[in-house]
Amino acid sequence: MGKLRSKSGSVCLLLAIGVAATVVSLAVAQTDQTFEGKVVGVTDGDTITLLVGRTQVKVRLEGIDAPESGQSFGTKSKNALAALVSGKTVTVRKTGEDKYGRTLGVVLVGGVDANAKLVAGRWAWHYTKYNNDTQLAKLEREARAARMGLWAESQPLPPWEYRARQKAPAAQGTGRYWLNTSSGVRHNERCEHFQKTKKGRLCGPTDGKACGICGG
Ligand SMILES: [Zn+2]
Repeated sequence: MGKLRSKSGSVCLLLAIGVAATVVSLAVAQTDQTFEGKVVGVTDGDTITLLVGRTQVKVRLEGIDAPESGQSFGTKSKNALAALVSGKTVTVRKTGEDKYGRTLGVVLVGGVDANAKLVAGRWAWHYTKYNNDTQLAKLEREARAARMGLWAESQPLPPWEYRARQKAPAAQGTGRYWLNTSSGVRHNERCEHFQKTKKGRLCGPTDGKACGICGG
């Protein structure tokens, strides 16, 4: 009996050490995943550059996808993020890296979650392909219902679809494009505005500025 007790006692001790070691390593990992930096660049509504010490670190905001610069609301979305973080010291909670090796993270500025703020402000989509955060999902539902910002358009084109179309222009049928010569916006032939603008002409795939709805 005495022998048994001491054996189970040492098992307990080993377990305790094991748990303690796990807790310590988690705590260290957590600390390493959070860093501060000054925002020295805003690429678009979901990407910023921080100065961390002397190193520039590009951070892609986790869980959101903002309109590209060629899309409607691309510039407004970028400006919204810039107004929030430009020149400020922010905290980044790193969540991982994207396929380009860029840091993915949640950007906190003065206690405000910039990622959530962009979705709530109707300047960015919840990037559901790579993120299943219920709070971001809820914010996007509310933003859509408000029909303001990028949701003011009847069928806003998700940025990921826009990028896919930019990559594969050959997949867009016969590849004819229409340039609205008043606005300088280019539409592809599947767009409701194709050959339907007051002034316009057929054009090449890179003429003018791509339509935010059809992708140009
Ligand atoms: Zn169009």
